[in-house]
Amino acid sequence: MTSILTAVRPASARAQALLDAPQDARMLIGGDWVGASDGATLPSIDPATGAVIGHIPDATPHDIDRAVRAARAAFDSWSQTPPAERAAILWRIADLIDANIDELAEMETLDQGKPLYVGRWAEIPGAAGQFRFFAGQATAIEGRTITPSITYQPAGKQVHAWTLREPVGVVAAIVPWNSPLVLTAMKLAPALAAGCTLVLKPAEDTSLTALRLAELMVEAGLPAGVLNVVTGRGARSGAALAAHHGVDKVAFTGSTATGRAILDASKGNLKRVTLELGGKSPVIVLPDADLDLAIPGAANAIFFNGGQVCVAGSRAFVHASIYDRVIEGLSSYADGLQLGHGLNPATQMGPLVSARQAERVADFVAGARTAGASVMTGGERSGDAGTFIRPTVIADVSPDMDVVREEIFGPVLVVQRYDDLDQVVAAANDSVYGLAASVWTESLSSAHRLSRRIQAGTVWINCHLMYDASLPIGGVKQSGYGRDSGVAALDNYLEWKTVCAVL
Ligand code: NAD
Repeated sequence: MTSILTAVRPASARAQALLDAPQDARMLIGGDWVGASDGATLPSIDPATGAVIGHIPDATPHDIDRAVRAARAAFDSWSQTPPAERAAILWRIADLIDANIDELAEMETLDQGKPLYVGRWAEIPGAAGQFRFFAGQATAIEGRTITPSITYQPAGKQVHAWTLREPVGVVAAIVPWNSPLVLTAMKLAPALAAGCTLVLKPAEDTSLTALRLAELMVEAGLPAGVLNVVTGRGARSGAALAAHHGVDKVAFTGSTATGRAILDASKGNLKRVTLELGGKSPVIVLPDADLDLAIPGAANAIFFNGGQVCVAGSRAFVHASIYDRVIEGLSSYADGLQLGHGLNPATQMGPLVSARQAERVADFVAGARTAGASVMTGGERSGDAGTFIRPTVIADVSPDMDVVREEIFGPVLVVQRYDDLDQVVAAANDSVYGLAASVWTESLSSAHRLSRRIQAGTVWINCHLMYDASLPIGGVKQSGYGRDSGVAALDNYLEWKTVCAVL
């Protein structure tokens, strides 16, 4: 199947306007919608066609400074707003996301390339779910009482001690382009629930839904300055934000290389930093797996959203006894995927986000061929326009190849054969990353044992990519530290204060 499906007309007026003529977007600073102070803009591109659909401001360090000051000015009032009031605003934001779900999904498809169903049924509802979950958490923040064993307390007195949870302050949230709205919600919802104020910097390739979300958040009653959104290049606006001394904490999702740059930039005022970084997640298929479930499951783990997923299952380990059947099943699944514009309902896989990303992925596949690997299917660019890469399955790899070790962030699966559990555990853990893994087996015992031995922040059993606002997600090793989602995420945005009294 080589045809690339074209777009069908979007239903929402905003998405139609983007298709009809490029729209100029503005950033939100201190309640005002503004351009960059030097007038600079960046194009927003529909990666399926290469068409310019809009322009976003390229924020200057001066704009970043204004945004941080606005967040600081709003902090005292927002942090002291009763939790139930904060919760009510978060809940309204979720309702407004639901009310605008088709429009948000269509805008995300046009800006990022993803098939409409990914945004419409997974990511945009997921974003609303984040605001609802953390609306509940806003009213459940609590400290502890402690009975200390201090030996030098004054005779006849008692020491009474307790802890308070307090918001960390001004948060810089910096997010990537692969799942823009839901990853943004994963930062904003817990930070606002905790009482923090924010400066958000979406990725330069995909800022449109973050700006639309900001409009909805204003409509929901979020006071001016509590959320500021600055758009622009990572090297200019992102770097200025990460280094700004008025920022107390950086909540970052993105590549491991940028995570390192952010850590360096945070040193000036010793910002708190949490990092959700890259991955090279193993998918382990045991000989007793239900292959009717495991083969499409493993294929979806890598080809969903074109492999542009931090937890994508990019390394499959298949037991020797079922290897031939599984590799044939994976290749045939890949061959059957329909590529096209995300606005066509028949599209199963869209383009990659940018020409740069498509070239990077193609280079990895070419490197694997040169190194002697077998490309079972895919690997080539597809279509005359856009940034489409055919879903790719690679076999006959060795552990030292780049295609096995590096995060590709595209629809490329490497498949390796193993003979026993100790061997597959060692091979799966032989990575600098530790973000996620999945294990496919009918044996409860093997599933439990492997879930403990695999070095990863999440282990899925007989599934992959199961996300929920209640489930913590994040990495070990060079996949970062800190957790998004779940009660654990609130800790990113709260300090402990100890109060100790002699009574
Ligand atoms: P990236 O690191 O290039 O960019 C992420 C964000 O950082 C963007 O907003 C960018 O503008 C900004 N940025 C770039 N340079 C900066 C700098 N020097 N200082 C401050 N900000 C800067 O990542 P990407 O290419 O947009 O996204 C892909 C990466 O994100 C992959 O590695 C993927 O695994 C990772 N990711 C991780 C998770 C997770 O939860 N662990 C989720 C999604 C994506």
